[in-house]
Amino acid sequence: MERIRLGNTVFEGLNNAYLLPGDRPTLVDAGVATDSVRRDLREGLDAAGYGVADLDAIVLTHWHADHAGLAGELQAESGAPVYVHADDAGIVAGDPDAVAAERSIRERRFDEWRIPDEPLAEVTAFLDGHDDLRGDRVDVTPVEDGDRIAAGDGELEVVHLPGHAAGLSAFAFDGEPGAGREAFVGDAILPKYTPNVGGADLRVDRPLETYLDSLARLAALDFERAWPGHRDPISDPAGRARVIAEHHRERTERVVSVLDDHGPADAWTVSARLFGDLEAIHILHGPGEAFAHLDHLVAEGVVAPPDDGGRYELLDADPDFDELVAVPETKR
Ligand SMILES: [Zn+2]
Ligand SMILES: [Zn+2]
Repeated sequence: MERIRLGNTVFEGLNNAYLLPGDRPTLVDAGVATDSVRRDLREGLDAAGYGVADLDAIVLTHWHADHAGLAGELQAESGAPVYVHADDAGIVAGDPDAVAAERSIRERRFDEWRIPDEPLAEVTAFLDGHDDLRGDRVDVTPVEDGDRIAAGDGELEVVHLPGHAAGLSAFAFDGEPGAGREAFVGDAILPKYTPNVGGADLRVDRPLETYLDSLARLAALDFERAWPGHRDPISDPAGRARVIAEHHRERTERVVSVLDDHGPADAWTVSARLFGDLEAIHILHGPGEAFAHLDHLVAEGVVAPPDDGGRYELLDADPDFDELVAVPETKR
């Protein structure tokens, strides 16, 4: 398996695509549709002895432009099917209804979070200005959890891990002989950052709870190694899932203490207390993250549902955080 490093100055930086060589050469993720990433990808394939036309399959971990952007043009050149989870298939395909639905949820949330006019204009311009990074339309083959896709000299098993994105899926495979199961995990877990939850895909219901369930599943699967969408391989994926869950527990504590200090506050205000001033895509990710936590606290009865001003009021200043945010047990 070959890791192909892609530059990406637009989003989280330094994407990975992966090539499974063999009978059925398969590409995992495709990078943003910019000239420099296009070049990185072609050079990476070339170094492995392959061209775009050789690809027999393309699998995408999720719909974000830094993972799916080039899929359409690679498909046009190779004729390869593009597999992505059914929940993300419509957006990747460029289906106008799916794209409009995402946009309308986004606009409603921005309103509910009380993002002030100036940052709202900035983030809207940022998102609109980057629409072209999504690249060409894709003829998508939707997949579901448990599906198996012939790839390389073996197969990939779809493991649906929603949270960061509704359709986010890992693809599990047998590593080197005797090395156990490994997985391409996209942005389900990342080696340094905690993947954004709440702002990265506004279509996800109960985003924090959904994501924590995915972390628990990932921990239970206990892969030997994970190959993330950004940066270096993760040698203890279960341990990394545990650390990210612990991070969310701490963040939940901080959200409760912000409401305790400040009194009732909207998601934008909580975000400002947590993250300070935000720019570009972070204007979406910051209040999104705050919202994911507030929404979870509402569902758990710790915080009242937002009032007419979008403000959340703390009901219980001393909840049991261990119960609120389950941190998976891990073996290693
Ligand atoms: Zn992503
Ligand atoms: Zn990403």
